[in-house]
Amino acid sequence: MPTETFEFQVEARQLLQLMIHSIYSNKDVFLRELVSNASDALDKLRLAALRDDALDADVSDLHIELEIDREARTLTVRDNGIGMSYDEVGQLIGTIANSGTAEFLRELREAKDAAGAEGLIGQFGVGFYSGFMVADEVTLVTRRAGETKGTRWSSRGEGTYTLQEVDDAPQGTSVTLHLKPADSDNQLHDYTSVWKIKEIVKRYSDFITWPVKLVGEAAGEGDAGEGDAPAEPETLNSMKALWARSRDEVSEDEYHELYKHISHDWRDPLETVQLQAEGTFEYQALLFVPSHAPHDLFTQNFQRGLQLYVKRVFIMDDCEALLPPYLRFVKGVVDAQDLSLNVSREILQQDRHILMMQRRLTKKVLASVKSMKADDAERYGTFWREFGAVLKEGLVTDSDNRDALLAVSSFATTHGEDEQVTLEQYAQRMPDEQEAVYYITGESRQSIDNSPHVEAFRERGIEVLLLTDPVDEVWVDVVGEFQGKRLQSIAKGEIDLGAQGDEKSEGEREKQAEEFAGLLGWMTEQLAEDVKEVRLSSRLTVSPACIVADADDLTPALENMYRAMGQ
Ligand code: ADP
Ligand code: MG
Repeated sequence: MPTETFEFQVEARQLLQLMIHSIYSNKDVFLRELVSNASDALDKLRLAALRDDALDADVSDLHIELEIDREARTLTVRDNGIGMSYDEVGQLIGTIANSGTAEFLRELREAKDAAGAEGLIGQFGVGFYSGFMVADEVTLVTRRAGETKGTRWSSRGEGTYTLQEVDDAPQGTSVTLHLKPADSDNQLHDYTSVWKIKEIVKRYSDFITWPVKLVGEAAGEGDAGEGDAPAEPETLNSMKALWARSRDEVSEDEYHELYKHISHDWRDPLETVQLQAEGTFEYQALLFVPSHAPHDLFTQNFQRGLQLYVKRVFIMDDCEALLPPYLRFVKGVVDAQDLSLNVSREILQQDRHILMMQRRLTKKVLASVKSMKADDAERYGTFWREFGAVLKEGLVTDSDNRDALLAVSSFATTHGEDEQVTLEQYAQRMPDEQEAVYYITGESRQSIDNSPHVEAFRERGIEVLLLTDPVDEVWVDVVGEFQGKRLQSIAKGEIDLGAQGDEKSEGEREKQAEEFAGLLGWMTEQLAEDVKEVRLSSRLTVSPACIVADADDLTPALENMYRAMGQ
């Protein structure tokens, strides 16, 4: 088969341009990305071999190799993992499938200036392409485990790449970077330096569970005696499972690097949560709350779940059974001692131990949000802005944890532009005679804050919660009441504000009713097609009239939500 030349997909080309001109100053991370891919490939092969006895693959010595060739000025990252088929190389390397990267490009287009762009690049994983930050040519040779033919991919990053079938490729993937000459005399960017490579691996990839070895002529350097026989390839990473170590032994940076490896996010997480459960069913968990909500969090195909390990061995990605859907933004690792290596998703869904783990992990995450709220208002603010709308789904679906969820849920209010209050705070400051917790729902704060419904309450100094997420319509009904006070929409049904903050006497109201009886009757007739009833109201102070829904009608926002859901 001859060498074929292909064009990169448009997005891929844009990304490559960015990498080549390297507006991102921390180039070292390219190695983290390549080692991370190699590690994933080894995980996949191990698993494939476990599932399929017939797979013709060698899994006896899985590892990652780094090889420096000073003369040729190349650095090679090699793994003997799952590899890729000819078609897969085209699909996976020639296009941008990763949704995070697509999101990155979208934001980048909006950023426009270089400073904004650099900030963005620092935040998104650009994976394989980051090799082009340090190389002016990249070649990849790969053979998929179980297949006989291999594939050679090569590109200078300038719009096209070539693909070629090869006969003698070893199983797995090797990526060779032809390093840019410009970096050779800059100590900081000399990626043929053993010292430099060791430092990068230690910093970014220490926890990788497969050995990362330095091989070839450069490998023995830095050891005591010179001119000795070639040393054993040196393993650069400690391979220590961070989740199994105690928290004071592990630095914040180490946790963050693990987060980046498993989440494919380049930003630091907002919160790290560790749990080590002992007893009859032993497991360790290391969970992370990201600092930003992914753009597809509310879509059907959002990939949720944690990585599951059994006794340090990677079993699966996106294990949904370990956390409820309303914590789907949480990333992390769970390592269980007593599960079978062959455990399947179906089994996990029904396993009693898994259910216990899910309960405990849920409580642990909620407890950490609670302490974040108590100790660090700013971080909690970020958390709530990014994930509040998801967390509130739990108020509907998880009655066991409802109180814990309410304790960390806060809402905008008529009593302050930027203030957010919990139901607890609301209840504490409401006057004794107030009968209900008042709220209004709508699409935006602005639209409800200025609505005629809010007028009477504002006039009388009665606090109203302003709820603007679609899920708000639902949880208020499910929760129903708080500390014996019902949750009452001010846009629904008749509200008797009674004497609270009102100057009109009973007698005055009766007089008004008589006075307007004729007008109301006439209006009811005229509007018969559109409304059920026209009545006098004590809710308005400035606006002459407003439309009120029946207590059990759908509110407009909920109607919209159901319509959006296709119902
Ligand atoms: P990501 O790792 O976030 O998916 P990358 O750009 O790093 O994005 O890699 C793209 C895809 O290419 C990977 O998802 C994987 O399927 C494939 N790939 C990359 N490197 C390797 C490798 N060493 N072995 C096998 N497949 C790989
Ligand atoms: Mg990757």
